[in-house]
Formats: sequence, C-alpha cells, structure tokens
Amino acid sequence: MSQTIYDFAVIGAGMAGASIAAELAPHANVLLLEAEDAPGYHSTGRSAAFWEECYGGPGVVPLTLASGRYLREHDFLRPRGALYVGRAEDKGSMDRFVETFSGTGVTIERLDRAGLAARVPHTRDDWCDAIWEPACADIDVAGLHQHYLKSLKHGGADLVCRARLGAATRMNAVWQLTTEAGDTYRAATLINAAGAWADTIAGQAGTRPLGIDPKRRTVAQLRVEPAAPDDLPLVLDINGEFYFKSDNGRLWLSPHDEIPTVPCDAAPEEIDVALAIDRFQQVTDWKIEAVERRWAGLRSFAPDRLPVYGHDPEVEGFFWFAGQGGFGIQTAPAAARLASQLALGSGPDDLTRSIDPQAYAPQRFFTSATARTG
Ligand SMILES: Cc1cc2nc3c(=O)[nH]c(=O)nc-3n(C[C@H](O)[C@H](O)[C@H](O)COP(=O)(O)OP(=O)(O)OC[C@H]3O[C@@H](n4cnc5c(N)ncnc54)[C@H](O)[C@@H]3O)c2cc1C
Repeated sequence: MSQTIYDFAVIGAGMAGASIAAELAPHANVLLLEAEDAPGYHSTGRSAAFWEECYGGPGVVPLTLASGRYLREHDFLRPRGALYVGRAEDKGSMDRFVETFSGTGVTIERLDRAGLAARVPHTRDDWCDAIWEPACADIDVAGLHQHYLKSLKHGGADLVCRARLGAATRMNAVWQLTTEAGDTYRAATLINAAGAWADTIAGQAGTRPLGIDPKRRTVAQLRVEPAAPDDLPLVLDINGEFYFKSDNGRLWLSPHDEIPTVPCDAAPEEIDVALAIDRFQQVTDWKIEAVERRWAGLRSFAPDRLPVYGHDPEVEGFFWFAGQGGFGIQTAPAAARLASQLALGSGPDDLTRSIDPQAYAPQRFFTSATARTG
C-alpha cells in the first residue's frame, strides 16, 4: 500500500479527470487513476471536436461561453461557424430555437435559403431556413487534453494508468482504494470523473448512483465528390437528426444517435451509419464515394442532461464530476476550474464568476422524498 494519503484521488483520465486534476494539482496532493493503457481512450478520443455555443441547451451555455474565452486565449480553437438547417415545415422548430436561446449570450442570426446555399453547397432546394452561429469553432481536443496532462504533471500530481478502480471503502475519513490489479491507494476525497462509468464508481463507493446513462453516438468519415471545402460550417439538423462538418476534404457525418447502452468500449453499428447516409442524402446531392472510417463513443447524461459537479450530499469525501454528455470538451476549462474551486472550498475567479454552481450541484437529485436515511 502507498503510504501517501492524497488529498484527492481522481478516477478517470479523460478530459474531465485530466482537467480537474490539473486545476487541483497546484493546490493539493493529487492522484489520477486511469483504467486504460493511456488517457483519452474512451469518449475524449472520439469526439467530433467542435465548440458550439448552443450545444447542450441553455443550461450549458454559461459553461461553454466561459470556456470559449480560455480556449481562445490558449489557441485551441479554429473558426468554423455553425448552421442549423430546416425545411418549410420546420419553421416552428426554428422559431422555438431562436426563442430558447434569446438572452443567453449566444450570437445567432436567421438566414433564408440564399444565405443557407451560400454557406453549404449541394443542399437540396427544400432546405430553405437556417440559423447561423458565427462563433462555432473546431477544438484541438488532443492539444487540450495534453495541455491538462502536462499541467497536472507539472503541478506534481501522480498519474497511474492500467489502474482500474475495483473497490473503495472509507475508514477514519480516508478512502482505501484498491485497483483490480490489487494495488492500493489512500485519499481524503474521491473525485468521480469516470465518464460512462460514473454510476459504477458510485456503486463501488457505497454512494447512491444518480442515473448517469451512457448513450452511443456514431460518426462516419465520408469521401465525397467534389471534396468537402475547408470552410464548410458545422451543419446541424434543427430537429436533431444529423450533423456534418468537413475535415481535410472529407466529411464527418453523424446521425445524431443516442442509443442507450452499458458502459463499454463503444463500436459503431452499420445500421446507424446507413441511417446517417440516408439522412444526409435527403439534405444534399453530394456524391458519396466511400465510407472511409467510422467510430462511436459514449455520451453520458444525468437525468436532466446537465452535468453534475460537487460534493455528494450523503457520502462524505465523494465528489461528482460527471454527466459531461455531448459537451465535455467544449466546457472543460470552466467546468474543471469551477469544480476544483468547489472541491477546494475556494471562491470563484474571472473564469467562473458568471456561472451558478447550484445549477450543476448533485443536491438537485436529493429531494427529501428520495434521500436515504441513516
Ligand atoms: C461521437 C462523439 C462526439 C462528440 N463530440 C463532441 C464535441 O464536438 N464537443 C464536445 O465538447 N464534446 C463532444 N463529445 C462529448 C465528449 O467527448 C465527452 O463529454 C467527454 O469526452 C467526456 O469526458 P470524460 O473524461 O468524462 O469521459 P472519458 O473520456 O470517457 O473518460 C473517462 C475515463 O474514466 C476511465 N475509467 C472508467 N472506469 C474507471 C475505473 N474503475 N478506474 C479507473 N478509470 C476508470 C475510463 O477508462 C476513461 O478513460 C462527443 C462525444 C462523442 C462520443
């Protein structure tokens, strides 16, 4: 057994675990345990890599906007723009979208058919309504993840890979953590940043799972003729049936699927790729020459689809940093700073002042009717 009693043991070294460990490391003694051979193998390594102001809904906007400032300052964003598209019958959805985000601080503008066609070549004529979001950008996901891995190392945190947590018991205000390989560690606070496995970790620690459900999302890389232009915006269906963007002349296309699954090494299903292509062909007349690559990953949501940051109200020393859904990369800087401030008990700073931590507190799932007694 390691003799060190860490202040914090973070479980999972995806974007969530790496970023919070990096934020904590200058202030505390931090251990980061990762089950896989290397950090970033699961959701973090499989994202579509965009920063999109509206993605995840109005409740996520404060985290996205605050993170955008950090990502721009550190040069992790490359401008792209996003376009929500619809047909005449989608006018109601378009109107509701604009109304939903009015006053949230995002910058969106309604475009007509001419504005749509000018930005996205090959769209079929019935796609005539659009909402333009100029600030949308690509994120250098690997660069951001490395930035946090380097920072946590620089801050003195210990990262241990091939260390899948198997059991967690609390004795005398200290967690005894045992990996499946039999190694043991001790820490005052356990931070649950295990992505799709967040509820599994809660179960191991005797904490009530919050219902954080993994859902599979598929992406296919298409070779199209003519090649996809570099300045193509991210194009999203207003009804959430597809999105696509260009990448080095190719197209990344998703059917925007959300297939409930168990936590696992997610793999794409042919049916979802076929569905994506079918939907894509209803929007554009782009010629598809080949499906070059396909992948899938898990997006894990709390029941209200907002992330969960904060101390568990029932189990001492257990801290939630989970439910990052489909926005865990674009919200990482502000989320990690905010969560580290909550974990350390320190106040907000310029990055987090505009964010209400109560909106993401685990307490929202603990009503008096459902709280456990004893
Ligand atoms: C197809 C797809 C597209 C996406 N596109 C975007 C996008 O464009 N923009 C955006 O912001 N977000 C996007 N997302 C969402 C984003 O990828 C996630 O929100 C984010 O990666 C979640 O990070 P995480 O660290 O919580 O999870 P993960 O990266 O999955 O990390 C969790 C880690 O915990 C480890 N772990 C689990 N159990 C244990 C254990 N017992 N012991 C030790 N370690 C353990 C796992 O091995 C894993 O490495 C997308 C996701 C998918 C799947």
